Amino acid sequence: MKETIGIPRALLYYYFYPAWRAFFESLGRTCRVSGKTTKSVIDSGIKVTVDEACLPVKAYHGHVMALSGECDNVFVPRLVSVERKAYICPKLMGLPDMVRHNCRDIRGIIDPCIDMSSNSWAYIKELYATGRLFTRNPLKIFAAQHKAKQAHYEFVRLLQAGLTPIDAMENDFRPSHNLVSGQDKSVRRPIIGVVGHPYIIYDSFLGMNILDKLNVMGAKTVTMEMLQPTTVQREAEKCGKKVFWTIGRRLLGAGYYFLRPGTVDGCLQVSAFACGPDSFISEFLQQESARSKRRVPFMTIVVDEHTGEAGIQTRLEAFMDIVERSMAR
Ligand code: SF4
Repeated sequence: MKETIGIPRALLYYYFYPAWRAFFESLGRTCRVSGKTTKSVIDSGIKVTVDEACLPVKAYHGHVMALSGECDNVFVPRLVSVERKAYICPKLMGLPDMVRHNCRDIRGIIDPCIDMSSNSWAYIKELYATGRLFTRNPLKIFAAQHKAKQAHYEFVRLLQAGLTPIDAMENDFRPSHNLVSGQDKSVRRPIIGVVGHPYIIYDSFLGMNILDKLNVMGAKTVTMEMLQPTTVQREAEKCGKKVFWTIGRRLLGAGYYFLRPGTVDGCLQVSAFACGPDSFISEFLQQESARSKRRVPFMTIVVDEHTGEAGIQTRLEAFMDIVERSMAR
């Protein structure tokens, strides 16, 4: 029987799963992804984590626990940096330590350390060391690295073509979002720029299906992953100070872009309670929105394990009313 690698359907899964799957499958392993987030997944994560952890980290623990007994090893990479002189949120840097401490039933953890802050060789070396866990043949490892890189580039290309990570991962080349049946095509649909971590807005439980709800209300949605990296980078530089958290900088750049009059009709930030980077992004975006003469409607929704779906629905309806009124002006 092939060795099975467990992949929690949370956090970096939404950025890197195609690459991880290509890597492990190329080395003859099978990937087993945990199921979708449910209340019981969240509850089991909450039981083992500290109160101060953000909702996505609690959910991650729940997904790791759901893989207990389902795989031989769980893949929990330690992501320090994915580009020079910039870093990932400290909670992602400490993920393997938290999981080891909090999920005592999980025995095998594969935890390569991805740190490209000084050069990209460190990443290649670390991935090579991970490949050595499965084969002694360097050519096989290099081939697996190459396949992972190709899979990642293809994934990013599909995102920039307008697919959601879910559609792109499932190789469904038709965007499922933004399709509203029976809509009058002569009516221009409001476009809403949604600023939020992919592991929140594309997780239907954590993000409470906000994208689907907006689509049902007749809006088209655009997210950070669908923008060109150069656009996001250029916009983020408006902040005046280098934001050295990679994901925070990208979210900020996307938010600044959406708040530029003429790009979208409304900008919605979906933020996680207890998320440090989100709290400063929210502040910067509110300031930018207040500064703008032709204001793009802007709203922030904060989600945590206590957020009720009915409240979200009401707030979205109110937001869409404001967007439609602003479009009619
Ligand atoms: S960036 Fe925010 S939401 Fe994401 S892991 Fe860090 S604290 Fe949690």
